[in-house]
Amino acid sequence: MGNLWKDEEAEMLDWRIGFIGLSLGNSSFPSNFVSVNEEIFVVLLFQIEFEIMLSKVIAQASVDHVEKWFEKADRIVIVSHVSPDGDAIGSSLGLYHFLTSQDKNVHVIVPNAFPDFLKWMPGAKDVIQYNRYKDFADKLILEADVICCLDFNVLSRIDEMEEVVKNAPGRKMIVDHHLYPGDFARIVISHPEISKTSELVFRLICQLGNFSDISKEGAECIYTGMMTDTGGFTYNSNNREIYLIIGELLSRGIDKDEIYRRVFNTYSEDRLRLMGYVLYDKMQVYPEFNAALITLSRAEQKKFRYVKGDTEGFVNMPLSIKNVCFSAFLREDTEKDMIKISLRSVGTFPCNQVAADFFNGGGHLNASGGEFYGPMEEAIALFKQALVKYEDLLLGKK
Ligand code: 5GP
Ligand code: MN
Repeated sequence: MGNLWKDEEAEMLDWRIGFIGLSLGNSSFPSNFVSVNEEIFVVLLFQIEFEIMLSKVIAQASVDHVEKWFEKADRIVIVSHVSPDGDAIGSSLGLYHFLTSQDKNVHVIVPNAFPDFLKWMPGAKDVIQYNRYKDFADKLILEADVICCLDFNVLSRIDEMEEVVKNAPGRKMIVDHHLYPGDFARIVISHPEISKTSELVFRLICQLGNFSDISKEGAECIYTGMMTDTGGFTYNSNNREIYLIIGELLSRGIDKDEIYRRVFNTYSEDRLRLMGYVLYDKMQVYPEFNAALITLSRAEQKKFRYVKGDTEGFVNMPLSIKNVCFSAFLREDTEKDMIKISLRSVGTFPCNQVAADFFNGGGHLNASGGEFYGPMEEAIALFKQALVKYEDLLLGKK
């Protein structure tokens, strides 16, 4: 328990608790004052106890800096990455609900559409899609006092929004968990050891001392981001503090079982049939490399009436085969003329290195991605080259 609060902070807490206790015991207070104070005492004590249990992951200097910016700012814009996933939307809306509770004028802007299974999230209807409302979004970005960049490390990840965000006069901060944060922001809260940005948003709000301002709506968004970036807490989810945080989110009244159902069990029949087709016809297993590949063309997507989000999770499926530790999913994009690459691994195999080496991309050790501009056969050939290059690592010889 080495990384709990420092001694002087614990002393400060003793002092705060002692002070409140003293006030309660002071009989010169009118009785109704004491009962109000008792409630405050219980709330404060609870908050303090919880905060003590949670490590202070974010540097205090960054927290202080953010506090100053938020205090002064009226207009705040939150932006997240292209093809936003549960963590992108969850972290953005988690912060959105908190800042709205602080009477700020807040907007969430993302480059393009996000999947239907995230649209139930409180505030999702207010998320602005840049590719549909460019002029309005440009105005908001240019007029913002603070721009919060969530769940991405480099500006190229926000696609068409890159230029306007780069040139906007507002102060920029990053809250993210990808490796190698860019240098476009003054405040950089970058923690690759934390498996989701939503958790960082929760921690930031707590470290700002605003734990009690997290509403049920905000908690639902934060929980969704934490759940989706860990596959329903099945990977990158061994840190015990995750479960302390979930306990607190539950105390805000969230229904985690219902959230799971809304995200993972509300797909269309078409998606399930596409999944069957992909597993039966399209999955190639390379036992000699402990690897697997799935490809999907535009025509195949059309046949199954593909809508955004329908292939979510497909890349993980081959990893349930014994010994397969690396999986790739290559899909012809329906919006842009490119092939979207998704890579996943289990254990120590660095799929982000493959993404960077071969597909102009990046990401995390076990979940990464990239893009390929060219025909599918060439993308497949490149994938096979990657298998050869990384053979020793794939076979656990290194
Ligand atoms: P997904 O396979 O879910 O699209 O992406 C998994 C992870 O890979 C993302 O969270 C992100 O970190 C990374 N990633 C996906 N696509 C790209 C890309 O085109 N460029 C970079 N740098 N990272 C990507
Ligand atoms: Mn994320």
